[in-house]
Amino acid sequence: MALLQIAEPGQSTLPHQHKLSIGIDLGTTNSLVATVQSGLPTILKDKDDHVLIPSVVHYGKNITHVGHDALPFLLTDAKNTIVSVKRFMGQSLNHIQYKDALPYEFDETSQDIQLKTEQGIKHPIEVSADILKKLKTMAEVSLCGEVTAAVITVPAYFDDTQRQATKDAAKLAGLNVLRLINEPTAAAVAYGLDQKKEGTFIIYDLGGGTFDISILKLHQGVFEVLATNGHPHLGGDDFDQAIAEMIKKTCSLNQLNHEDKRSLIMEAKKIKESLSTHPDVTAKFTLSNGKDIVFTLNRDTFILETNDLVQKTIQPIKRALSDAKLPITSIDGVVMVGGATRMPHIQSEIKTFFKQEPLNNLNPDEVVALGASRQAHTLAGNKSDQDLLLLDVTPLSLGIETMGGLVEKIIHRNSTIPVAKAQEFTTFKDGQTAMSIHVLQGERERVSDCRSLANFTLTDIPPMVAGSAKIRVAFQIDADGLLSVSARELSTNKETSVTVKPSYGLSEEQMIHMLTQSFENAEEDKKIRALSEAKIEGEQIITAVQNALHKDGKHLLTQDEIKDIQNAIYTLSSSLKESDADLIIGLTKNLNALTESFASKLMDQSVGNALKGKSIDKVNL
Ligand code: AMP
Repeated sequence: MALLQIAEPGQSTLPHQHKLSIGIDLGTTNSLVATVQSGLPTILKDKDDHVLIPSVVHYGKNITHVGHDALPFLLTDAKNTIVSVKRFMGQSLNHIQYKDALPYEFDETSQDIQLKTEQGIKHPIEVSADILKKLKTMAEVSLCGEVTAAVITVPAYFDDTQRQATKDAAKLAGLNVLRLINEPTAAAVAYGLDQKKEGTFIIYDLGGGTFDISILKLHQGVFEVLATNGHPHLGGDDFDQAIAEMIKKTCSLNQLNHEDKRSLIMEAKKIKESLSTHPDVTAKFTLSNGKDIVFTLNRDTFILETNDLVQKTIQPIKRALSDAKLPITSIDGVVMVGGATRMPHIQSEIKTFFKQEPLNNLNPDEVVALGASRQAHTLAGNKSDQDLLLLDVTPLSLGIETMGGLVEKIIHRNSTIPVAKAQEFTTFKDGQTAMSIHVLQGERERVSDCRSLANFTLTDIPPMVAGSAKIRVAFQIDADGLLSVSARELSTNKETSVTVKPSYGLSEEQMIHMLTQSFENAEEDKKIRALSEAKIEGEQIITAVQNALHKDGKHLLTQDEIKDIQNAIYTLSSSLKESDADLIIGLTKNLNALTESFASKLMDQSVGNALKGKSIDKVNL
């Protein structure tokens, strides 16, 4: 007879209890919320059947409007109506582009972004929390129950600060965040699991304010992110800005007030969206001073004028392909995500570049939220989805400082996480009892060009001859991207470790800047490394030969031999002040050759010493 399990009173789950979980695509322009209903990811609508909820918040005197309710205030009360707040998340005031073109009043006394509104100072986290609250309530009304948990998507380039800011906003909104996942990864979840099982895919995500490119490998339903790249400030908004500039130029508009600036951008956006389905569009609107504006734009002119923006998306694709070491021909499909990919010249450019039709059979606005809802459903415990394993990558390489101010990379950029790597290092000086471990992030060869993450010291190393201690330095990055570094002296097993957040405080610009610099300086870096290594080797041999000369030179060598060696030491040490790696290597070889017979005499002497006083049969040869 089968045994029945009996739960503690009050601890059994109710039959058919279903935990309500949602996936949120917290977009720059619009946000969406989805849930899994009867096994199918479904986008939720508000009471007016809207699917896209504008990521807009209006702070009125005693009332806050969010989403569609906030839209009318864009024109009438621009200063108190916040759009694209996602661009401000985890950023400081000096990160904001086009600050003067924005209709807000910033608190300039703070490094943080603080918006002065009718309801007082608002931090981007609070604004974002108001959007999330709206989405949570909308889902609860639609699902007739309390939402217990959510998965929220963020751009692949969001660093720890930005992710943390998003998590804080969710907490403020009363949401339990099960996980933050990258937007392209969520899109792949929606596509890959529903339709494709195998292959290598590009996720091309052009939203309102950000551009992300990801290369994903799908193998038997398991995703692996091979590489990510992108542009933190490129999206549909830039195309709006380009059209607004055309209108300003054509209609000779200067010195616009806040409301007019906003209405110009709104008109530009309408024109752009309309041009996706119409060959030409005419906009008619009136400025606050009563001036009527009539502006016509045809698709060909629009394509010509915004071609540079389209081209800006190609460079990151090339970099991602090169990071993943993949030719264009190995890409099995290109998934289009984000409302701005509806623009026909984006679609055609991508088709030409990859020589294939992009995949766009799911709504580009909804893909991310659908994938997120599927993840939320699984993580909330409604389904044990063993197949769905998401792997992520480290955006920048991690390593430690070595002699000569160089960086030895231990975990290379774009390694899939979780990951653990270890390498052995040794001491530089005789009798060295401590070793300073300087953890660095970046692609460059020199410490001064990388970002310092942590510093710690391994002490109590037993005194040994330089180069004989073995220190094992291990790097480990867990699934949440947290890095821990440990250093262990292998003869005593003494260990010291530190936990660091690899990307804490690193802005998207800094990350992009560091990557660009490393590409631009790769050749120069190689030369610097070669020179530095040559100098270290030269210094090491000089110290070793000088010590040996001091100790045994007089009784093992002739005066002339000593003179020759000292001359070679002098020329080598003078060359160390120069920047010629080949010269240093040559002179080091010369000193090595010159001291060869001295070295063998030293060896004979130490063997002799070891045998002294022992009969031949006692010697273990
Ligand atoms: P997302 O951040 O994914 O919500 O994308 C929003 C961006 O997509 C905005 O810049 C929109 O103007 C743009 N967008 C939405 N629909 C269209 C369309 N039909 N044609 C061109 N751009 C569009």
